[in-house]
Order: sequence, then structure tokens, then C-alpha cells
Amino acid sequence: MILEKLLVGAIETNCYIIGCERTLEGLIIDPGADGEKILKIVKAKNLNIKYIINTHAHIDHIGANKYLKETLNAEVCIHEEDIKFLKNPVLNLSAFVPQDLQGDCLPFPHPDIALNEDSQLKIGNLKALILHTPGHTPGGISIVIDKCVFTGDALFSGSIGRTDFPLADETTLINGIKNKLFKLPEDFIVYPGHGASSTIGKEKRENPYVGKG
Ligand SMILES: [Zn+2]
Ligand SMILES: [Zn+2]
Repeated sequence: MILEKLLVGAIETNCYIIGCERTLEGLIIDPGADGEKILKIVKAKNLNIKYIINTHAHIDHIGANKYLKETLNAEVCIHEEDIKFLKNPVLNLSAFVPQDLQGDCLPFPHPDIALNEDSQLKIGNLKALILHTPGHTPGGISIVIDKCVFTGDALFSGSIGRTDFPLADETTLINGIKNKLFKLPEDFIVYPGHGASSTIGKEKRENPYVGKG
């Protein structure tokens, strides 16, 4: 599996570029900004990007959707409960970003694929399995590929996502982490939307916001 992580935008979102080594089909998780920088890596790795997946619809995770969809002709995928965020600047937080920093990301393209719990996407020989992990936003998802889980702003290394945004809910967030993410094998690597990677085992033992059990 090809896996490239790069930091994009003013608040350093982790954007992940993933590809199947054999077929060179690929997907991009959370292109929050810096579309050209992302495109350079896609080209360098010779990937044919099929999907752009947003772990949720905050601007720092969706800002380069438009540029990359148009450039790569890829399908934008987002959980059905976050689709309403794309057209609402208060929900997607773009209302709070100065206009000159928004670039040409607006309007956000309507998604091609609405995801649900247990949706699956195929990228060459890889399979991306969708887990609904709401609470930071109602349509927050985590994406399991191989022994990796991309957790967006649900679970971070040693922390969890903010729940002071519109439609966020802390209890929902913690329940999703406990009942879905912490049920994954302990050696699965956690790739969050911001900050360093971790493992499911380490977060189960040490994350102070989730608690044991
Ligand atoms: Zn967020
Ligand atoms: Zn974020």
C-alpha cells in the first residue's frame, strides 16, 4: 500500500494519499487545502485517483475538493449526514475563514457518493471500509484500509475532536470511539486529521478523554 501524509492549510490538516501498489489506483483523504501540492504527489506516485473522501465537512478537510475533483476527475465521497454542511458556511466553518484565505474552494462540489456505516470502496486491491464515528460532526467517519484507520477529527493521539462546534455532541463522539474504533485490533495504526499517528492499543490505554471500558 502506498501511503503519503502531507500537512495542508493554515491549521495543518493531515491529508493522506493512498494507493494500491499493483494497480496504482488511489484515493485522497481530507484534501483540506493546497490542491497543487497534493496534485504534485499524486503525479509523482503516478496514481490514478478514483475517490476523494472527506472524514467530515469542516473547511480544513474539504477546501481542495473542488480543485482536485476538477483536475483528477475523481468522485467526492462524504457521509450523508454531513452533506448539508457543504452548502452552509456556518456549519462547515468557512464563514469564520477570511475570504482571501478561502482561495477558489467555493462553492464546494456536491458529493458523488453519499457514504453510510459499512459503505465500502475498492481501490485496486485495497478496500476502504467506512465506520460512522459522529459527534465532532453528525456525519463524521473513520476509514479502515488494511491495518490503518483514518479517524479525521474524532480521535487524535492523546485527545479527541472538539465538540463546541454546531451540531457536535461529546457523548456521541466518545461512544463512537469506544464502540467502534476501540473494537478494532490493538495494532491498527491511527492516522488522525491533525497531529501525530498512534495505535488503537495506545489510545485505549492512554487517551484521557475516552476512559477505559
Ligand atoms: Zn473538524
Ligand atoms: Zn480538522
